[in-house]
Amino acid sequence: METFTYFMPTKVFFGRDCVSRQGQAMVSAGKRALVVTGKNSARKCGALDDITLCLKENGIGFDLFDEVEANPSIATARLAGKRARDFNADMIIAVGGGSPLDAGKAAALLALNDFTDDALFSADDTIPVLPVVAVPTTAGTGSEVTPYSILTDMNLQTKRNLRSEKLFPVLAYLDPRYTELLPRDITSYTAIDALTHAIEGYLSSRHTPLTDVLALESIRLLGENLPGLSGSLPDSAGREKLLMASLFAGIVIARTGTTILHAMGYHLTFFHKVEHGRANGFILPAYLEYVMNARPDRAGAILDAMGCRDINCLSKILGPLVGVAPCLSDVERRDYSLKACEAPSAASTVPRPGPADIRTMYEHLLSCTDTAVQSGGTCGDV
Ligand code: NAP
Ligand code: FE
Repeated sequence: METFTYFMPTKVFFGRDCVSRQGQAMVSAGKRALVVTGKNSARKCGALDDITLCLKENGIGFDLFDEVEANPSIATARLAGKRARDFNADMIIAVGGGSPLDAGKAAALLALNDFTDDALFSADDTIPVLPVVAVPTTAGTGSEVTPYSILTDMNLQTKRNLRSEKLFPVLAYLDPRYTELLPRDITSYTAIDALTHAIEGYLSSRHTPLTDVLALESIRLLGENLPGLSGSLPDSAGREKLLMASLFAGIVIARTGTTILHAMGYHLTFFHKVEHGRANGFILPAYLEYVMNARPDRAGAILDAMGCRDINCLSKILGPLVGVAPCLSDVERRDYSLKACEAPSAASTVPRPGPADIRTMYEHLLSCTDTAVQSGGTCGDV
């Protein structure tokens, strides 16, 4: 018999113009907001204008922190947290891709807690956190509906996952319009990030019947919309589908977490500057190959939902979207495998991989030719 618990406390507003139509709900979150965002895109895509207009109309005071970089560092989150404290903010509005959303969530925690790095990543579900309103401008991370903030730890040379139930945003506004200016590469990489969330969630030891439904629907939506990304950019309807797929996949990983694939991808991002979703795309075929032996039924259901006959068909969809992978030296493959093996997400991977299994997956990164792997040389431009 199945038993499971489900909790997702974020109120979600989805659809065109949702901030102008339903922004007054923000009044329930606070009276003084720190808006946390990246350098440019929230302005360019119209999200920042919509938010500031809404705040003015609803009498909510605000200050702006617009210095969040991709794969945000702990230091950036600390700066944003300090700004929130100095401004006496009682809420955070995080606007942008996953990076500003995650920095905003961490700032919400750091504004109220003086934590060392280690205390930060051991935060539990009871710590006080400012309420967060999340407004995604990419369609991929699902951070607007998760209890995670992923930060780069320069000392440990990897990305780390800060998790607390208190980090679920209280409100999330998903307007597909904000994603319409995303260039082809970021559109593809973020869509692949969502795909890996849905797939890893479906394969995680923590999956439930409820997350399965959302994961398969997310995979189906991406199966319909990913292949076209190698040709033209999506139209408005396509953008809406990608954002919905990202939302569903976010709700999935909020409960299941990710698995070894994400832990492996962090090393491609930290050491080889590969974008998060793109890194995941390089690993996905080898990961499915690894899982296929132990869980042919689940891996088969994923391929069916994608509309793929086999893993090769999936590789053909991903290949043109991710390009050429960095080829890793023997030493790099060994070091990254040992580190990934210790990541908490390794424990929910079925079957649980050892360093040798992970090394094999690193040896079979998509688009990295065997010849280049054998010589340990670089075969790409990343
Ligand atoms: P991102 O790092 O937030 O942004 C990547 C680039 O896209 C930036 O240059 C950004 O510009 C630009 N951009 C954002 N929105 C745009 C728009 N509407 N139009 C044009 N350009 C736009 O990318 P992301 O893939 O969304 O987020 C990745 C991060 O999320 C990683 O750190 C990953 O680990 C994390 N993540 C978190 C979770 C979670 O549950 N918390 C889940 C998965 C991934 P600006 O610099 O101007 O903003
Ligand atoms: Fe991700």
